[in-house]
This record gives sequence, C-alpha cells and structure tokens, in this order.
Amino acid sequence: MPTSTSTRLWVPRRVLVTRSAAERPHTATILERCAAAGVTDVEFLPADRITGLRVTGPDGETDERATYARAKSTLVVVVSPPSQRRLQPIPPSADWRLDLAQGCPAHCQYCYLAGSLGGPPVTRVYADLDAVLGAMDGHVGRGGVTSTSAARGHEGTTFEASCYTDPLGIEHVTGSLSAAIAHVGTHAFAGPVQLRATTKFGAVEPLLDLPHHGRTRIRASVNAAGVAGRFEGGTDPVPVRLAGLGALARAGYPVGLTIAPIMPRGDWRAEYGALLDAAADELAGVPGLDLTVECITHRFTPSSKDVLEDWYPRTQLEMDPDARSRKRGKFGSVKYVYPAATMAELRSWFADALEARIPAARPLYWT
Ligand code: SF4
Repeated sequence: MPTSTSTRLWVPRRVLVTRSAAERPHTATILERCAAAGVTDVEFLPADRITGLRVTGPDGETDERATYARAKSTLVVVVSPPSQRRLQPIPPSADWRLDLAQGCPAHCQYCYLAGSLGGPPVTRVYADLDAVLGAMDGHVGRGGVTSTSAARGHEGTTFEASCYTDPLGIEHVTGSLSAAIAHVGTHAFAGPVQLRATTKFGAVEPLLDLPHHGRTRIRASVNAAGVAGRFEGGTDPVPVRLAGLGALARAGYPVGLTIAPIMPRGDWRAEYGALLDAAADELAGVPGLDLTVECITHRFTPSSKDVLEDWYPRTQLEMDPDARSRKRGKFGSVKYVYPAATMAELRSWFADALEARIPAARPLYWT
C-alpha cells in the first residue's frame, strides 16, 4: 500500500502572457488557476516575443545557474506555433504527439527535454487549447504505431500528451489536461482514439470524475528508489505516483506504468523488484483493470549531456560515452545506450519479473 498521499504542487513565481495569448479563453482559466495557487506576479507582454528570461552576471555573460532557476519558476502562456497543427509521429509510445505545453518545472537530472527544447527551460502552456485539440480530428485513422500493432490495434489512433511536458505536474495551474480528457471522452471522432499521458506526479483528484469514457490512458512514470530519490528533484515520491495511479484505475481509467529511465545501479534487481511489488499492491483488486507497461532504458545524446551537465554540474548520473554503445538514429543523430550485454540482461530480468510480479500488466515495448 502507498506510504504517502501528499502531493507537491508547483507554484510559478512569475507568469508571462504573450500578446496573442492574452485574449484566448483558456488564458482566463489559466490565470484564475494561477491566482488560486497564490501567484501574484503576472506580466502581460506587449508582443509575442518572450524576453527577460536570461540573467546576466556582473561581467555581462549569462549566469547559467540563475537563468535556470528563473526559467524553472516561470510559466509562459503562449499561442502554439502553427507547426503544432501538423502533429508528428512519436513511436514507440503513440501515433501522434499532442502538445498541451512544452517544458516542465521539475528537476530530473536525466530530463528527456534537455537538448530537445532550446533556450532557458521555462514551461510554456498553450492558450489556444481548442485549436490544439481540434488538430486531432485530421489525424484519426492515420498513423502507424498502434494501429499496426496486434497488441494495441484496439486502442485506435493514439495521441501522446507528455512528450514535451508533464501535463499532470502543471494541471493545477493550467487545466489543460482535464479539458483534453473531457474533449477526448465526449467528442465524436471519426474512429476510436486514445489520449495518453505519463506523469511523475500524483495529484489526480481533479481527473477522477471527468467524462473520460475509457479513452485516456494515464501512466505513472516510476523508477527504482535509488534513481527516483537521487535524480528526480521536484517530482512527487514514487509511492504518491502509485497511489494516484491506483485512484485513476479505480475511477475506470486505463492505466500504465512507464518504467523509465531504467538504470542498472547498485542493487537494481532488489530495487526494481520492490517497485513492481508496490505497483502490484496498489492495483490489486481493481475491477476490470486495464494495465500496460512500457520500459525505457537510460540513454543520452551529446547535446543532452552538454545541457544536463550545465544544469546539474555536480550530478552523479553516469553519462560516459565510453561505457555505452553508440546508436545512430534518423538523420544521423547519435545516442548512447547501454551495451548489448547489459541491455539483454536488463530486458530478460524485467520480462521475468513483470510476469512473476504483475501478471496483469500488458507490455507495450522495451527500448
Ligand atoms: Fe523532465 Fe519529466 Fe522530470 Fe519534468 S518530470 S523534469 S519532463 S524528466
């Protein structure tokens, strides 16, 4: 059973609203939520260009630490760029990426966003939520990740909302995830759809009574105690995330575990075993449980390593290219993954442990 249910709610120190975002109806919702959370510093920018994010030192150079701290405590309300209307495929998680926001206030030392999003790491939330959600219609019935998978064909066309943010971590100040869940649950799409989100937070209460109609799968992003405790600053503790997942499952949501990023550190078998046991305990007895599991091993790119070492100069996260295998991606990009022998050992251990400890979990992919 979970040992704690208290959640950590982020309160931005500063909210910036661009000129184009100011008149959008969803902006009013965001600002009401920010006021309720105690935000007092709200600035309406005269244009759409976002300024004042970098902090400079006495020498005129960017003070990286101060810039990082300021950015991580800033919420920017913007209109999404036109490119967002053409959704991008996002294998292996989903057919399409659906961004409600970009950026995240937490401080994970391996953050997936490092090197993907440029500039200081602010959280940008999209004020034109109606247009973002409206873009889904043109993509239903298209996409090759889930529709061609025997294990996932029944999910319909899948849309992933957590590629570039943690949508539950900012939900109390945005309301975007609730609106998206209600939209997907009630809108007449041309075919079956599934909205997907994964989170390292546990404040699920606002989602429990939404008309989700089983069309949103929320996964808890979880890790071994040694990884979560050391590298996942500003997130909710894993027991809180699991308690949230249990509450969602009992409210009829399809749910999942995103075990990521898997790292073979210390006594990893015992720690991941304890994690799987805790998840099994939390979900035991849920009627009609629909549970999936996704396993993602730790990897980094040359640019994410550079950014993360700037953000977390004293990190003990292993990012040694010489200890890794180089993998070439599309367009010649390079990423560093665990060597084949380590990967095989991890994969086989997880396959056995999942089957033994959470037999109800349907594995979606290993990467
Ligand atoms: Fe990055 Fe996810 Fe951690 Fe946020 S919760 S800092 S997006 S890894």
